[in-house]
Amino acid sequence: MSAPAHRYRPETELVHAGAMRTQFGETSEALFLTQGFVYDSAEQCEARFKGEEPGFLYSRFSNPTVAMFERRMAIFEGAESARATATGMAAVTTALVGQLKAGDHVVAAKALFGSCRWVVEDFLPRFGVPSTLVDGRDLEQWQKAVRPNTKTFFLESPTNPTLDVVDIAAVAKIAHAAGATLVVDNVFATPIWQSPLALGADVVVYSATKHIDGQGRCLGGIILASEKFIQDNIHQFIRQTGPSMSPFNAWVLLKGLETLHLRVQRQSDTAAAVSTALANHPKITRLIYPGRADHPQADVIRRQMRGGSTLVAFEVAGGDKAGTFRFLNALKLIRITNNLGDAKSLVTHPATTTHQRLTPEARAELGISDGLVRFSAGLEHPDDVVTDLVTALEKV
Ligand SMILES: *Cc1c(COP(=O)(O)O)cnc(C)c1O
Repeated sequence: MSAPAHRYRPETELVHAGAMRTQFGETSEALFLTQGFVYDSAEQCEARFKGEEPGFLYSRFSNPTVAMFERRMAIFEGAESARATATGMAAVTTALVGQLKAGDHVVAAKALFGSCRWVVEDFLPRFGVPSTLVDGRDLEQWQKAVRPNTKTFFLESPTNPTLDVVDIAAVAKIAHAAGATLVVDNVFATPIWQSPLALGADVVVYSATKHIDGQGRCLGGIILASEKFIQDNIHQFIRQTGPSMSPFNAWVLLKGLETLHLRVQRQSDTAAAVSTALANHPKITRLIYPGRADHPQADVIRRQMRGGSTLVAFEVAGGDKAGTFRFLNALKLIRITNNLGDAKSLVTHPATTTHQRLTPEARAELGISDGLVRFSAGLEHPDDVVTDLVTALEKV
């Protein structure tokens, strides 16, 4: 099989990078739905296992379709290396656990995807890795949380669900001065609008379940970093413990990458249109959209993001659960779910779903009121989406 070596513009890489053609000359990437591989001789098998000859061994840690997905993502992200995982949570957990041992310490922003927060707050301490949670927007808190044994920093930006933005370059500087690494969960920004490695992060993780699939079909995750970080911390962990991506899912996600740029651009345009329509609406008390000049961290956004977001967060007037539920139930086109980044426009009520595990005080601290709604723009005509939202707001 041969792979193209040229570098093109990013959108072109999303369509071609990492593709390996078989002797049949297929146009679309082949799906290698195989567990293992056979060898021409016992000598060849031995050489593969010793790492003396390149090639595939067993799909828990190497498969051609998964490798194409990893290479396409790595080239687009500007990373030396990548490893795909079964889910986004497998990517986050592997990126952290792979580099940590008992006695290390983690500093993380409090505003994290619910399961990420559980891993940092509840799971890692069980294995002798305590964590400190900070307000990610406050650089002084990152600095103050550093201990002599701090091994890694972890954050997401924009955050879920309030779309706050963390200054990645500044946090990376603090991490590196402390001898720690920085892991960034880049799901909400997407690789289209933000490149954490270029801002100084050491590791980027994605839930490919979201925009990379983009059509609500399969789960997946990916970890991107230097070749050294992957070899030292990630490759063995995946090889030996098996949080691996299915070749079928890798194939679906490769196809997703071909249209990622178009979809994220369209979804961000729709999210911007929604934010414009709702920002001064009498039934909306607060609206947060990273593409707006009134975003609290607008200056950081200008420095570190190339575009807004496919998501909008807003608070429904009254701020109570009953009124907010009346609004959600009155939506006809936009569907209620806990997911995001789909072709279909979606709404989530974080207080009763993704963040219901937190105490009311912890939710209040994160700005998650009973009136807060997270909107994820789909691929419908923007006017239909705006009309659905404005019509449903009449029910509040
Ligand atoms: C969805 C999501 C995850 C987890 O991904 P899964 O593929 O559902 O395991 C992690 N971080 C963020 C920010 C997410 O949105």
